[in-house]
Amino acid sequence: MNDPNPTLPASERIYARLAAAGRRFHANDNIAEFIEKEELKDLEDEVTAQLQGLLETLVIDTKNDHNTRGTARRVARMFLHEVFRGRYHPMPPVTEFPNAEKLNELMIIGPITVRSACSHHLVPILGRLFIGVLPNEHSNLVGLSKYSRVADWIMSRPQIQEEAVTMLANELQTRVKPDGLAIVMEADHFCMHWRGVKDDESMMTNSVMRGAFLKDANLRREFLSLLSKKDLR
Ligand SMILES: [Zn+2]
Repeated sequence: MNDPNPTLPASERIYARLAAAGRRFHANDNIAEFIEKEELKDLEDEVTAQLQGLLETLVIDTKNDHNTRGTARRVARMFLHEVFRGRYHPMPPVTEFPNAEKLNELMIIGPITVRSACSHHLVPILGRLFIGVLPNEHSNLVGLSKYSRVADWIMSRPQIQEEAVTMLANELQTRVKPDGLAIVMEADHFCMHWRGVKDDESMMTNSVMRGAFLKDANLRREFLSLLSKKDLR
């Protein structure tokens, strides 16, 4: 990795590397490869200082209010290492196996729990998703638990539901190389409950269909009917 001026704050060093590589860094992009391991700690300190400033601007007495005294640090850690870790940490290792048994039957994985946040308000999006895979003899198979780890890594970023399912589909398409791939996600957007219209019917469902699922109406029907048995609304 090229090394920008080490006296710069961590975030500016990361910006400099992203700019040099011409890489996009939207809220739902992973930027782990532009962060040196020990820099995450510096970044955490920087985010803590900014959040402390935010609390002060909100006129909250963090010196005397014992409940908010450690809030800036807690939220910085939560952002960087928990709820948005899919931006700052690399993808968990996923082993792929050749399809030795030449499996070519529809597989459905799910429900996988979705924990994300909307890019517009940084408020939780909670839900679940199902993945349908139609492998061919050249597909790579990944262990069942790996689907949820990849999904979790994609979802642990500020997201927009439509983009999140597309990102997940792209990632699985490259790794598994199936004949067909389908993802259905159903999620509850807390920015609709907590603010704005306070609409309690804020469930959003969307799907991505690729390859055989687009071309073959019977396959699509089989997938969706198996999902309804799994009680997707
Ligand atoms: Zn929102």
